[in-house]
Amino acid sequence: MCAAMAAINGIVGTSIAVGKEYSGWIYWKDGACSYTEPERGGADHSTANPVPKPPDGSDIIGVYHTHGKKDKHYKNEVFSDMDKDIFDRRNQKLYVGTPGAVVKKYSPIKGKCRGGVVETIGQIGIVGVQK
Ligand SMILES: [Zn+2]
Repeated sequence: MCAAMAAINGIVGTSIAVGKEYSGWIYWKDGACSYTEPERGGADHSTANPVPKPPDGSDIIGVYHTHGKKDKHYKNEVFSDMDKDIFDRRNQKLYVGTPGAVVKKYSPIKGKCRGGVVETIGQIGIVGVQK
């Protein structure tokens, strides 16, 4: 689970309130798992290369992101095909916080396009809105 729950817990309230996606990195450094501050994206996308970057010498685990508010035009509770394609290519984990307050993890399997393992790793409490 690493720092993904904490990272998503801290931003998902804002993501839902403003209807934008956010993303940031999950990484290991000096024996500890950590995350970068979230970068704001758009209503239906966020960058797969968020800024700030993890510090030099980090082992990158993957990226966390949120899916903004509930919208009937989007499948916000699941990883999109684009989500899977990008992280299959990189062979990194992708975490998502959904408007339904669930955190899911996508773990690519080499050679299996969009066939990685999806797990629900936790439920989040929606806390205050960060400016
Ligand atoms: Zn996504």
